[in-house]
Amino acid sequence: MSQTTVWIFADQLSHRWAEWLRERGLGQANAQVLFVESARQLRARPWHRHKLIFVLSAMRHFAEAMRAQGWRVDYRRAPTFLEGLKAHLAEHRPHRVLVMRPSTWQGAQFVESRLKQALPDLALEVMPNRMFLAKPQDLGTARSPLLETFYRNMRRRTGYLMDGGQPAGGKWNYDDQNRLPPRKEWRRGATLDIPPIPAFPPNAITRQVIAEVAQIETAWGALEGFALPVTREDALRFFEDFVANRLPNFGPYEDAMVSGQPTLFHAVVSPLINVGLLERDEMCQAAERAWREGHAPLNSVEGFIRQLIGWREFIYAIYWREMPRLREMNTLNAQRPLPAFYWNAQTDMACLRESVRSVWERGYTHHIQRLMVLSNFAMLAGVLPQAINEWFLSAYVDAYDWVVTPNVIGMGVFADGGIVGTKPYAASANYINKMSTYCQHCRYRPDQRLGEDACPFNALYWDFIDRHAERLGANPRTSMPVKALRQMPAAEVAALRAQAQRFLDSL
Ligand SMILES: Cc1cc2nc3c(=O)[nH]c(=O)nc-3n(C[C@H](O)[C@H](O)[C@H](O)COP(=O)(O)OP(=O)(O)OC[C@H]3O[C@@H](n4cnc5c(N)ncnc54)[C@H](O)[C@@H]3O)c2cc1C
Ligand code: SF4
Repeated sequence: MSQTTVWIFADQLSHRWAEWLRERGLGQANAQVLFVESARQLRARPWHRHKLIFVLSAMRHFAEAMRAQGWRVDYRRAPTFLEGLKAHLAEHRPHRVLVMRPSTWQGAQFVESRLKQALPDLALEVMPNRMFLAKPQDLGTARSPLLETFYRNMRRRTGYLMDGGQPAGGKWNYDDQNRLPPRKEWRRGATLDIPPIPAFPPNAITRQVIAEVAQIETAWGALEGFALPVTREDALRFFEDFVANRLPNFGPYEDAMVSGQPTLFHAVVSPLINVGLLERDEMCQAAERAWREGHAPLNSVEGFIRQLIGWREFIYAIYWREMPRLREMNTLNAQRPLPAFYWNAQTDMACLRESVRSVWERGYTHHIQRLMVLSNFAMLAGVLPQAINEWFLSAYVDAYDWVVTPNVIGMGVFADGGIVGTKPYAASANYINKMSTYCQHCRYRPDQRLGEDACPFNALYWDFIDRHAERLGANPRTSMPVKALRQMPAAEVAALRAQAQRFLDSL
């Protein structure tokens, strides 16, 4: 009987494979499954150790689960992906190889170009990617597509939170209820009412992976403390806990940042959904059910569903529309190298120090530290967009090129000149002080612009507005700070420029 090898990549660990293969007439009798761990890939950049542990452990558990379902599994460790495939072909001699189109540009290049060049006689079939809903054409034709338009179309298409063709509750968007700052008692240090996220202690497979990752000399981040779920069953339990305990407060405190509480009411599901252990639709359905059954308010549920069928799918569609040029964009001509504190957390700036420490400890911060602290600083300081992009790709457990590059190059540092968002997310210390508890433990004063104790974000912010006044002044969404700058006394503007320069020289 003709034999097919199904090569499953590490970010394609979906429980739907059996169903997808059945649609193609494939089953345990005429197909076997291949997984390859590439030693070169594990050392391709300073990956966070938790990322390596998570991906390797999830892939090994997934292979075991397929074996338990009666599939013949060839799990290979090889110097490179290509060598792993060649060794498999030599040993098993399948008639053809089936892969699902990778989610990233480099992955697709590997499958569609390198493999074909290296193995011209290989009967290779590339099936469409089943992990995402959106395609570039769903963005319409505008250079800067609007998330809100895209999201409403996705709501209509999926039917989530729709009542008779209208948005549930009468509104598409409850963002105005989702911007609460930290509660007063959290500012005083009381965080007992924030539910902890469940921990899944490493089993024997994960412990073996941890021992191997400890030997990868190029890796970064803490080795200890890994507690993410690595199987479908545990991923579902992890998500159920979010729906029961954190979803009700997810919306209102979505943008709040609290010292020592990096996850707050967030779902922390991005590592799981990005490798396929959880699915967009089951998460949206569970969240909607929680609202319809009265367990969670509409503003939280709508906010969560918007992240999944709005932002996540929007970002994926933009990636595929704009690559490969997106990765190289540098509209603001920023050239500074990435400051060392992104790697070692050695800075007096409490917001940056705590955010980097959280990344070191668990490869995670929630969205607002990524956007309004880590990217905001890089943008204001004029860091080379490709340098901060590389850092995000390496340092987070949930990082993959399709999601990092549009979020960093586009949303984070505005190097795309306004494709992902219509304006730069630039903010001074005022925003961080309002939305976080960091400034309380900082050596700098968020309310001062000039002098030794002034928060560096302030001078950097005005210096950024000054440097890009022409571009920002021409955009109605960003012209206000340019007008404010123009009304400042010339001596104050000069002092802010000098303060920003002194700080940048000290980095
Ligand atoms: C500079 C920057 C870098 C980012 N890097 C990554 C990354 O490497 N990997 C990653 O998955 N997300 C990334 N994001 C998007 C977002 O910050 C994370 O998905 C989110 O913080 C993950 O935590 P969570 O699961 O607790 O999310 P929640 O706040 O609980 O949201 C639920 C889910 O919505 C999805 N989502 C929300 N916003 C986005 C978005 N902008 N893009 C894509 N998906 C989104 C994620 O799947 C997330 O798990 C980045 C955003 C920025 C601004
Ligand atoms: S004072 Fe400035 S540097 Fe310090 S935590 Fe606040 S925003 Fe960050």
